[in-house]
Amino acid sequence: MRIWNLPCGELDDAHLLGEHGELHGLWAALTQGKRAWANHPETRRFRGRLGALYRRHEEQVAEMARRGWAGHRSPPDAALVGADAWEWPPVCAAEIERDRRDLAARAPEKTRRRSAV
Ligand SMILES: [Zn+2]
Repeated sequence: MRIWNLPCGELDDAHLLGEHGELHGLWAALTQGKRAWANHPETRRFRGRLGALYRRHEEQVAEMARRGWAGHRSPPDAALVGADAWEWPPVCAAEIERDRRDLAARAPEKTRRRSAV
């Protein structure tokens, strides 16, 4: 489970779709208290930040639509954000660069193609 510290437009198709599925799992972990994911680093990172996760989901859906995938169903319930923060978890430039390197190492071909768009 990983939410990348990169704009959705930088993710290749597989990682965009993968992150989208994982975000729904993370959302469920945070809003339904699923214990299986309670101590995962990403769960801890986004605890108290449902707003940021909600915004990331909107960015994912917009990017998926841009790439031709329509018909997304069952978005997260914005009402569950409550008093949670809308700001992205603190992240430094080195972490962003690490994500960019990791992504390129996982899918060099696709990442190159995507960044050329
Ligand atoms: Zn979704």
